[in-house]
Amino acid sequence: MTLVVADRVWLDSAVSKHDGRTAVVMTMGALHAGHAELLRRARAEAEHVIATIYVNPLQFGPNEDLAKYPRTLEDDLELCREIGVDVVFTPADDVIYPVTPSVRIDPGPTGEILDGASRPGHFAGMLTVVHKLLRLTRADVAYFGEKDYQQLALIRQMVRDLDMGVEIVGVPTVREADGLALSSRNRYLSAEDRERALALSRALFACRRGTPAEILDAAAAELTGVDLDYLALTDTLLGPATPGPGRLLVAARVGTTRLIDNAPVEVC
Ligand code: AMP
Repeated sequence: MTLVVADRVWLDSAVSKHDGRTAVVMTMGALHAGHAELLRRARAEAEHVIATIYVNPLQFGPNEDLAKYPRTLEDDLELCREIGVDVVFTPADDVIYPVTPSVRIDPGPTGEILDGASRPGHFAGMLTVVHKLLRLTRADVAYFGEKDYQQLALIRQMVRDLDMGVEIVGVPTVREADGLALSSRNRYLSAEDRERALALSRALFACRRGTPAEILDAAAAELTGVDLDYLALTDTLLGPATPGPGRLLVAARVGTTRLIDNAPVEVC
C-alpha cells in the first residue's frame, strides 16, 4: 500500500499508469466497520482501490464539530492495509484548497431540505469536495453509504446532471448488533447517550410496512429522550411518499451529538 499524504503530483503519477478500473472510497477517517464494508466492496469489484481520508472544512458550519472531529490516522491506515487498499490519499487542506474555491457545486432543491435545511452550505461543500476528489483520483467507480442517504442522492444527481461519467454504488448501512448505525460521531456518545441513541434505529424499524400515518406514528412513539430535528417519510426526497418502496429518515441530537439514520419501508 502506498500512503500519499499530501502531494497532488504524486497522486497523479500513482493513478495515471493503471489498466483496469479504479475505485475510490471517500471518508473523513475515524474508520469503522461501515467504511470497511465500502472498502471491501471496492476491493472485490475494481482493480485499483484508493481510499481518501480528508475532513473537508467546506462542509462544516461555523458552530459544527470540525475542530474536534475524531482523527485516528494510524488505526485507519492499519485497516486499509488489512483490506488491501492500494493508495490512501490524506491531503492537507492547502493541497485540496490552494485557494478558497469561488466556484462551488449548487446542490439544487434536494440540497435545501432535511439536512440541507439544518446545515446551510453543507451539501455545496460536500459536492464540491466529492467532485474534486473524483477528478484527482480519476476514479471510474465510487462507493458511498446509504447511511448518508440524501448525500448519496445528491452525488448521483451531480454525476448525472454534470455528465461526469463515473459509476456511483450505494452500500447498505452497517449497524451494531443492537441496531445503532455505525458512525464516526458515535465516539462522542457517553454510555447513557449511546443508550438514548438507539431510539433512532428503533423508530426506523418500528413499522416497516404500512400507511404513511402508521409508519410515522410508530416511529414518533420511539423518539423519546432525543432532541428531534426531523422525521421524514419520502420516496424521491422532494415529495411525500407514494405507495410502494419508500424511505424513512431521521435526524436528532443526542446530548451534544447530531446523528442521522434512515431505512427502507414499504408504503401502502
Ligand atoms: P464519513 O467518513 O462519515 O464521511 O463516511 C464516508 C463514507 O462511509 C460515506 O459514503 C458514508 O455514507 C459511509 N458510511 C458511514 N457510515 C456508514 C455505515 N454505518 N454503513 C455504511 N456506510 C457508511
